[in-house]
Amino acid sequence: METGDIAALARALRKREVSSRELTEATLQRIERLDPVLNAFITVTAGQALAAADAADRRLARGEATALTGIPIAHKDIFCTRGVLTTCGSKMLANFVAPYDAAIVERLAAAGVVSVGKTNMDEFAMGSSNETSFFGPVRNPWDPERSPGGSSGGSAAVVAAGLVPAATGTDTGGSIRQPAALAGITGFKPSYGRCSRYGMIAFASSLDQAGILARSAADAALLITAMAGFDPRDSTSVDAPVPDYVAALDRPLAGRRIGVPPQFFDAGLDPQCAARVREALQVFAGLGAEIVEVALPNLALSVPTYYIVAPAEASSNLARFDGVRFGHRSTAAGSLEELYKRSRQEGFGAEVKRRIMTGTYVLSAGYYDAYYLQAQKARQLIAGDLRRAFESVDVIAGPTTPTPAFRLGEKTEDPVQMYLNDIYTIAVNLAGVPGISIPCGFAGHLPVGLQLIGPAFDEATVLNVAHQYQLATDWHRRRPPQPAAARGAR
Ligand code: GLN
Repeated sequence: METGDIAALARALRKREVSSRELTEATLQRIERLDPVLNAFITVTAGQALAAADAADRRLARGEATALTGIPIAHKDIFCTRGVLTTCGSKMLANFVAPYDAAIVERLAAAGVVSVGKTNMDEFAMGSSNETSFFGPVRNPWDPERSPGGSSGGSAAVVAAGLVPAATGTDTGGSIRQPAALAGITGFKPSYGRCSRYGMIAFASSLDQAGILARSAADAALLITAMAGFDPRDSTSVDAPVPDYVAALDRPLAGRRIGVPPQFFDAGLDPQCAARVREALQVFAGLGAEIVEVALPNLALSVPTYYIVAPAEASSNLARFDGVRFGHRSTAAGSLEELYKRSRQEGFGAEVKRRIMTGTYVLSAGYYDAYYLQAQKARQLIAGDLRRAFESVDVIAGPTTPTPAFRLGEKTEDPVQMYLNDIYTIAVNLAGVPGISIPCGFAGHLPVGLQLIGPAFDEATVLNVAHQYQLATDWHRRRPPQPAAARGAR
């Protein structure tokens, strides 16, 4: 069964036209058929999913359902899930069964959402192609020779392939928006502090934010409403009321100001991507929005700044994986020190090691001032650019990625090429503001993403502008061709 949009599914569930068990069984069958090609799941939790579906059906029968009760979704394998393998895409955690649920997992479960499993991802969310995963790369449903992006590549692929209507993700430098763009779906990252990081395995704590990959901004609004909110267990969670994102979707665009930074249309941007984004701006203008130029003069600093700050924080966060308390433990060690060294050597992949080494270097005595401190200053400049831009516009629009989906293996030999993929997404994380990527057309057979960025804690406007675009266009309704394995199984 092809999954439709969430509000329609919820209506069908409430009218008892379909049960959550039927939906979940159909989802599990599709996963069995399609996932051998996609490699998008690390763990499928069929038993738990069916039990949750039955509980949802009972709740629906009692008339106590929420807008999400009985809807199947998947969680990125960075979120702790009680009693379920939680690997973070790493050999280091390939045997780790989490003893508790992450806050957003808890919140979605409380709303009655049915989790069918855990999705593949770049190791510890470090990557832009899902190729750093210990569990192998994910394939893009639009073209199995290509990457679905990363690090939330599994979550993007399962939504794009129609296995589930939505999946959770995390975005530290673009890992929700970038794969959403490459897989032709909607990916939404709220403001830093909006969703609790409790139980979300830390990569770079001052940048990490949970969000959602879905078909549409309207579906994202429904899910974020359930995920957002203050949590005393996360000291950076913000204690501010969560607005009614769903109600805000319908505000008309007339009179809205959309800022376009020329820095987003640099020489690195693929001409077809540029053309699709400019066409999208015409759609906004047709809906009554005013398109104005805004400057982000320090945008070019964002990649070097991020690749100092994020590895610095990662080197500290990943120090806890030492083979002693949990995770991979080397059996070849003769001493305690050797146990630490061998466990880390065997448990981490090349990209994670690269980040730990870079991070340790930029924090070390003698280099701290030259790198880490400078990066913190550059971060303030970048955040200041965005703040100033939002004094005169409601949202900023531009491309999400410089190119459409690239081939698997195309960028793995050159980490800097891979890092440059995040050129348009990273500033948003450095500033802590919300951003969304929505489909805006194609370059050949590959989807192109349009990015919309809003001021801090104004998720409502970002979702609203994206929704108005999706009411006027149907790019978000396009589906990839059925992969060969699925055709064969018919
Ligand atoms: N691609 C970026 C990185 O490798 C961002 C990853 C993310 O957002 N988790 O760090």
